[in-house]
Amino acid sequence: MALRALKPQGWNRERDKGMKILIQKFGGTSVADRDCMTRVRAKVEDGLKRADKVIAVLSARAGDTNRLLALADEWSATPDMAECDSLVSTGEQVSISLFTMLLKDAGIRARSLLGWQIPITTDEHFGRARIRAIKSDVLRTLLTEYDVLVIAGFQGCTEDGRITTLGRGGSDTSAVALAAALDSAECEIYTDVEGVYTTDPNICSTARKMERVAYEEMLEMASMGAKVLHIRSVEFAKKYKVPVRVRSTFSDDPGTLVTQEDSSMEAVLVSGIAYDKDQARVTLRDVPDVPGMAAALFGPLSEKGILVDMIVQNTSQDGHTDMTFTISRKDLKQTLEIMDEVARKTGASEVLHDVSVAKVSAIGVGMRNHSGVAARAFAALTQEGINILMISTSEIKITILIQEKYVELAVRILHDTFGLDWDIGC
Ligand code: ADP
Ligand code: ASP
Ligand code: MG
Repeated sequence: MALRALKPQGWNRERDKGMKILIQKFGGTSVADRDCMTRVRAKVEDGLKRADKVIAVLSARAGDTNRLLALADEWSATPDMAECDSLVSTGEQVSISLFTMLLKDAGIRARSLLGWQIPITTDEHFGRARIRAIKSDVLRTLLTEYDVLVIAGFQGCTEDGRITTLGRGGSDTSAVALAAALDSAECEIYTDVEGVYTTDPNICSTARKMERVAYEEMLEMASMGAKVLHIRSVEFAKKYKVPVRVRSTFSDDPGTLVTQEDSSMEAVLVSGIAYDKDQARVTLRDVPDVPGMAAALFGPLSEKGILVDMIVQNTSQDGHTDMTFTISRKDLKQTLEIMDEVARKTGASEVLHDVSVAKVSAIGVGMRNHSGVAARAFAALTQEGINILMISTSEIKITILIQEKYVELAVRILHDTFGLDWDIGC
C-alpha cells in the first residue's frame, strides 16, 4: 500500500495544527472483563494527559474470537469465508461498546467506531485481508467533537462494503495503520506482558525484556511466531517509521520500543529466540527433476493464497527428487488436495505429511557480520539429542524445524547458548 493511500484526505492543516493524537491498542486479556476494562480506562486517562486526543483500538474480549470461530465450525462443515468474517468481527463490536460505556460513565467524551464506519478499506481476502486505505479525515473531524475514539481492531471492509478481518492478532495492525494514517508520534500496544522479551516469557522464566528492538528484528521474530506483535503491524511500523511501544496493561513499566536499528543493536549477535507450533510438513516423493517443476508445485498453492514457509529439495537420483515444504496447519487439508492433483499431473509417487513438527528460530541483526551462529545452534541441539528436520537461514535469522515435543526445550537451550539468559537457568 502506498503511503499516500494512508494519509488523510481533506486534512485541514489549520484545524489540526498541533493536535497530538495518541494511539493505544489493548489486546484480548486487557479487555477480558469489567475490572480489566477499568484498568484500561486508567491507561486512556493517562494517555489524555500526554496527548490532546486518544484513539483506543480494542481486540475482542479474551476467548470471544475463538468462541465465534468454533460457532462457525459448528454451523457449517465449510463456513463461508465472508460470513465467517462478519460473524467473528462481532467480538470487537462487543468490546468497544462496553468500553465506551465505561469511558462515558467517567465523563469522557467518547464514541465507538466499527471498521466500516470510518471506513478502513481492505482487499477482499476474507480472513486475512490487508488494509488498503483509512479515511482519516473522518476521524480528524470526529476528534473535534470527542476526546477518545474507541475503534474496533482486526476488521475492515471491502470497497463494496463487505466486512473483512485481518487475520489472528490483527488488531495490532489496525492500531499501527491508524498511527501511520494520523501521523501519530507513537503507537502504544498494551498486552499481558511487559514488553518484547528475548523469548516468550511464558515458556522461559529467564527471558529478558528488551528496552529497544529494531523493526527488522521484530519483523523476523513476529514472522517466526512471536505473537506479541502481528507481523503486518511491524511491516507498517517499519514502512511508515511509526515508533511502537509494547507495554503492559497491568503495570507502569515503560515496555519495549520497536524502532529503527542503531549501531548498539549490531553489537548483539542473537537478540531473540522465537518458536512456532503452527507448522505442517508436506513431502512430494519422486518428483521429476526438470526445469519448471518448482513452479508447477508452488504456483497452485500461491493461487489459493497458501503461504509456503521452508522449502527443501533433495539431491536428484535417476532424474527424480523429493520436495519438502512447510505450511500453516490450517492450510493442510487444502494443500493436500492440491498436491494430490499435482502428483497426478507430474507423476510424483506419493504425498506425505506430518503435523507433529514446529520451528525454532534465533534472530539478531548482529548475525550479519558474524559466521558460525548456525553451527553453534546445531551443536547445542544435537548435544540434547534433538533431531533437526529442516533448516533455513536469512541474513539475520536461522530457523530449524524439529519435532513439536522438543520445542520448549530447544527454545531454552538456544536462549542459554546465545547468552540471553538471566543468571539462573531456564
Ligand atoms: P494480546 O491479546 O494482548 O494481543 P497476545 O497473546 O497476542 O496478546 O501476545 C502476547 C503474548 O505473546 C504473551 O503473553 C507471550 O506469551 C507471547 N510472546 C511470544 N513471544 C514473545 C516475546 N518474545 N516477548 C513477549 N511476549 C511474547
Ligand atoms: N480478536 C482477534 C484475535 O483474537 C484479533 C486480535 O486480538 O488482535 O485474533
Ligand atoms: Mg495479539
